[in-house]
Amino acid sequence: MRDAKPDAEAPGNFIDDLVREELAQAQGTPRTLRTRFPPEPNGYLHLGHAKSICLNFGLAQRHGGACNLRFDDTNPTTEEVEYVESIQADVRWLGFQWDGAVRFASDYFEQLYQWAEALVREGLAYVDSQDLEAIRAGRGDFHRPGTDSPFRGRSVEENLDLLRRMRAGEFPDGAHVLRAKIDMRSPDLNLRDPLLYRIRHARHHRTGDAWCIYPMYDWAHGQSDALEGITHSICTLEFQNHRPLYEWFLAALKVPERPRQIEFARLNLSYTVLSKRRLQQLVEEGHVSGWDDPRMPTLAGQRRRGVTPEALRNFCDRVGVARRDGVVDVSLLEHALREDLNARCPRVLAVLRPLKVVVENLPEGEVLWLDAPLHPDKPELGSRKVPFTRELYLEREDFLEDPPKKFFRLAPGREVRLRYACLLTCVGVEKTDGQVTALRCTWDPASRGGNAPDGRKVKATLHWVSAAHAVPAEVRLYDRLFKVENPMDVPEGGSWKDHLNRDSLEVLRHCRVEPYLASCAPGERFQFERLGYFCADTRDSVPGALVFNRTIGLQDPWAKLVARGSEG
Ligand code: ATP
Ligand code: MG
Repeated sequence: MRDAKPDAEAPGNFIDDLVREELAQAQGTPRTLRTRFPPEPNGYLHLGHAKSICLNFGLAQRHGGACNLRFDDTNPTTEEVEYVESIQADVRWLGFQWDGAVRFASDYFEQLYQWAEALVREGLAYVDSQDLEAIRAGRGDFHRPGTDSPFRGRSVEENLDLLRRMRAGEFPDGAHVLRAKIDMRSPDLNLRDPLLYRIRHARHHRTGDAWCIYPMYDWAHGQSDALEGITHSICTLEFQNHRPLYEWFLAALKVPERPRQIEFARLNLSYTVLSKRRLQQLVEEGHVSGWDDPRMPTLAGQRRRGVTPEALRNFCDRVGVARRDGVVDVSLLEHALREDLNARCPRVLAVLRPLKVVVENLPEGEVLWLDAPLHPDKPELGSRKVPFTRELYLEREDFLEDPPKKFFRLAPGREVRLRYACLLTCVGVEKTDGQVTALRCTWDPASRGGNAPDGRKVKATLHWVSAAHAVPAEVRLYDRLFKVENPMDVPEGGSWKDHLNRDSLEVLRHCRVEPYLASCAPGERFQFERLGYFCADTRDSVPGALVFNRTIGLQDPWAKLVARGSEG
């Protein structure tokens, strides 16, 4: 994956191929394909989940099927309503709609329990009264077979009685568990009498205090799939080992139409941590401002940063679906993002670190309103007028008093182009304590619009704003949250958090943007010419106090403008 070229054909999706084959071979009317996205509501969704969402919903879309959204809410203590809501918002934002109502594994608690009793009656499950440590020890390991629990031989009656009393709340946490009775000597550790229920006197966000026994993931998942008529239960590779158990339960319960579990490799991204638990630590320990901090790989963070759902979907398509773990280069995501933003964003002028310029031969009070197209390739986006006046702001780094050889921007005596405006020559420098505080310049009125009639060339085209008309703004620049490619690669005694990039946020509070942006809405995206793509912050930006997030920089801010300069 690492070497994937951004423009290469999308790698295959083996699950798609498989489904297509099945449909071709199906006798009679094939079952409608049904997939599901099954998040645990214990955090915000991240880019890895986007991959799973695109895969599950995408399959359903391509094959005339349906995709469910099901919360795997079997763990009462880590789950919160906030997450249930954010996850739905994120799936919708990505552009997908689940079939029917939102579902919850907790909707099936009663059915799961009835099924558990059925297993007990069949002699396929028993109540174990060892503590968890003893159970773990008895399970053995890869080299050693397990040993039977002393409670494995309990009668059906005793098991049923104990299970019912577990449910009724007669026992404290940890007193008993319900286990499947499979085979303690199985080479497959997951088949060594796995746990189905444990006692937990905890309030659940949906079922309240109705239950004090909660199903284990393995017991809940496949049965929930079956109850929903899922045909393909797609999950990440760490569940491959659980597949025999998944199938054992469905067979033991004699479920007529069984879902098929298929595994794929989870998405790993360079310079990024994708794990809800770790992301939660970043939030709780204050390394970021929240789950939606624009540096976070959460969908909420990415959205706030200005990332588009289209770019994410393209990225997921291009990454493809692999059977083996690998690491995807984050630059592939950045490429998809630039491509999408380039196509859609209006171009505007903004100056991040202003340096004042006085145009000596333009009288005070005079305003030239210049026409500037909003997009070079999209005339349908129209244009706006930008005011050119005696006092301007240029980017401070676009001027050097004593420029080195390769610096082609403004310097004393040098002429440059101002985007959409004219040719401008620096004729003087004002300083205080050795610091440049303003530039004196002259413009060539014959070059209005950008070019001189004599066709003389300049080597740079700069962005600028009118000092009198520009609107103040705060701009937040983001860098990668981690300094190293693989943040989880940690030396002895270190922490993955040691790899956090302490300079990942830079706040610029004295920026100036052209007046066209004065009333822009939170969430609106723009290309600030030569600077990158920016998005008005959805939390903090309001007309009158604008705040922009830099979504991403331009790949090559120079090449394009030099080439395009003459259009200017
Ligand atoms: P995390 O480790 O971040 O908590 P998870 O797998 O525990 O992830 P779930 O809420 O259980 O998170 O996941 C919902 C679905 O998303 C699952 O089907 C899971 O396989 C999938 N998923 C989670 N992380 C990734 C990833 N990095 N790449 C692809 N799919 C993922
Ligand atoms: Mg999980």
